[in-house]
Amino acid sequence: MTEFEIEQEKKGIIRQYRKLLRHAKPFLKDDDAKVIKRAFNMSQEAHKNMRRISGEPYISHPLAVAQICVEEIGLGTTSIISALLHDVVEDTELEIEDIERHFGKKVARIIDGLTKISGVFDYGTSQQAENFRKMILTLSDDVRVILVKLADRLHNMRTLDSMPEHKQIRVSSETIYLYAPLAHRLGLYAIKSELEDLYLKYSEPVKYDETVDKINVSKAPRERFVRNFISPIQKELNKRNIKFTIKGRPKSIYSIWNKMTSQEISFEKVYDLFAIRIILDLPPEMEKAGCWQVYSVVTDYYQPNPDRLRDWVSTPKSNGYESLHTTVMSKTGTWVEVQIRTKRMDEIAEKGYAAHWKYKESDQSSPESGLEVWIRKVREMLGREDATAIEFVDDFKHSLFNEEIFVFTPKGELKKLPGGASALDFAFEIHSEVGARCIGAKVNLKLVPINYKLKTGDQVEILTSNKQKPNDGWLSFVVTSKALTRIKDELKEQKKSAAADGKEIVMRKLKQVKLDLNSENLDKLLDRFNLKSALDFYFLVGKGKIDPKEIKKIKISVDTPRKLPQQSVSDIESFQRKIKEVTGEKRDQLLIGEDMDIVQYSLAPCCNPIPGDDVFGFVSTHEGIKIHRISCPNATELLSKHGHRVVKAKWTSQSEVSFLAGLKIRGTDRVGMMNDVTRIISSELKVNMRSVSIESDNGIFDGSIQLYVHDTKHLDVLTKKLENIEGVEEVARFDVH
Ligand code: MN
Repeated sequence: MTEFEIEQEKKGIIRQYRKLLRHAKPFLKDDDAKVIKRAFNMSQEAHKNMRRISGEPYISHPLAVAQICVEEIGLGTTSIISALLHDVVEDTELEIEDIERHFGKKVARIIDGLTKISGVFDYGTSQQAENFRKMILTLSDDVRVILVKLADRLHNMRTLDSMPEHKQIRVSSETIYLYAPLAHRLGLYAIKSELEDLYLKYSEPVKYDETVDKINVSKAPRERFVRNFISPIQKELNKRNIKFTIKGRPKSIYSIWNKMTSQEISFEKVYDLFAIRIILDLPPEMEKAGCWQVYSVVTDYYQPNPDRLRDWVSTPKSNGYESLHTTVMSKTGTWVEVQIRTKRMDEIAEKGYAAHWKYKESDQSSPESGLEVWIRKVREMLGREDATAIEFVDDFKHSLFNEEIFVFTPKGELKKLPGGASALDFAFEIHSEVGARCIGAKVNLKLVPINYKLKTGDQVEILTSNKQKPNDGWLSFVVTSKALTRIKDELKEQKKSAAADGKEIVMRKLKQVKLDLNSENLDKLLDRFNLKSALDFYFLVGKGKIDPKEIKKIKISVDTPRKLPQQSVSDIESFQRKIKEVTGEKRDQLLIGEDMDIVQYSLAPCCNPIPGDDVFGFVSTHEGIKIHRISCPNATELLSKHGHRVVKAKWTSQSEVSFLAGLKIRGTDRVGMMNDVTRIISSELKVNMRSVSIESDNGIFDGSIQLYVHDTKHLDVLTKKLENIEGVEEVARFDVH
């Protein structure tokens, strides 16, 4: 670089910094400007030898992030400082303690949060889910962590061009998977649409360019259309002395593309390419009446579609969005969406959270904002002790995406629930006890079952009974985290009490054969029934799923240690001799499940056979007989080279013993996919899972699950059920090693 270039670069940075201060100025108090200057200097010094991949000095990135915080989210000094310093702890020598010493606890906590959540979305690991959960934890700490993170992500997406292609795809999938919904949930519509558009730009570059071209080409006729459409409305509003502005804005590229793909239509067929927005300048007390007055004017000229009236003025969305939407028929025969709102509502819609707080301060009487309610719900989800990180991410995504429904109590009180909520969700919303005892409901005075899906406007009365108890079927039709949490807690309690009964039975049975319930014997029992936890074992006994008589059988293996010579066979003759000796019959077949006490055998770890599989026994030199599947990758070699060591083997019925099997699942990802899969496995079919790993890449869902099944029939049922899940393309068994 020449001296001149270095000079130019420095000037550019100073310009960028001055612009930031200029925009921040209206918010600044006392010596805020000085503190911001110190943060800028510290960050510049720390990053001084670093450059972005694009070649720019690194400091331009934190500056740009701070600029977004101020200009596009409307945040103040604390966030500006945090944005300027957001990468220093992660990427430079500076420590969190340095930040705290210079800028205090608040900023240090935000930076700490931001540092912890970097690299959150490393796909394909459950660590990713765990990290994500940590990130959301900071949401209850200080929502600014998430807002600065969104600004950071937005700038990275805006400058993604300089990244290598595989990174572009990874970063943009993360963005569409979580950041865009998160922005939506926080009410940051402008940022949300931009993130979505940028996602499309990098994941579907050709489609993106085509759509942009078409939007541009249609610009002139569209503007003409808008002018004609609004002209009578403008005249009428002027006549009535209403202050307003009207915009005809095309919808986002992503939303247009989304319509084209989801409805399989061409660009020309997307009727709502744009929306007309009428923004009124009105004092708070006249807002509602004003919006409806304008609605009345619009519908005097154009016929509205009664199905498409949305009144978020009377009942704002949880993220704070307020607006009155209607879709009307234009004179040229196309539908046009008209959005009517005030300046205040418009600012909230664009800037979300921050704008919301600005207005809230002046309005003391306003009830708890929807956003606070949502954050409280997130905390509730986090409070669930037994929730796995993956479950959490699923629940959380669910809560981000869902549209809301509005329903009423018998007394007319309004309740907001996520779309898809059932009568049972409503019951839990009223009170956890009401939920736990719910046996049905009356919706609009008609009797319905507890899994009835509620619709906006429903009036719901819950019916309860003291005899009612939650069961795991309930998990399949509740969607609120509150209901999920309570039901799972209750089921855990039920399991504990069944397990306590089971433990009593086990002790009694062991006593009958003069054995104690010590850890050694317990291990033998778990081994025998192929279970991992004592709780599961006691529970199955308590529920009568394990025959108590089977428990006594471990006496034999306790009394006769495994390595005894008479138990181990090293050739077929000794096997047949042994069988004859003990059973008195002459047979050349091993009965798996029955002959356990006569000869030593085990399931081969290379193919993990399960009952129902075609199998054979292979007499090994030292470890007794190994059972392999006929389809085992080693089978050909064993059968062809060592035929003399092969024993026929057959399964006997033993439905309560579980065997390890693996399933691979592939399909298209969607919200709740993970939940549906785990629900089918664990609650519907009550199968224990040993491990689950899921990868999601560009909307493709790739999972492998290890689980315990009774036999191939059981596995087939499970496979069929999984195949029926919406989006699942393929389910196949794989060998667990
Ligand atoms: Mn950054």
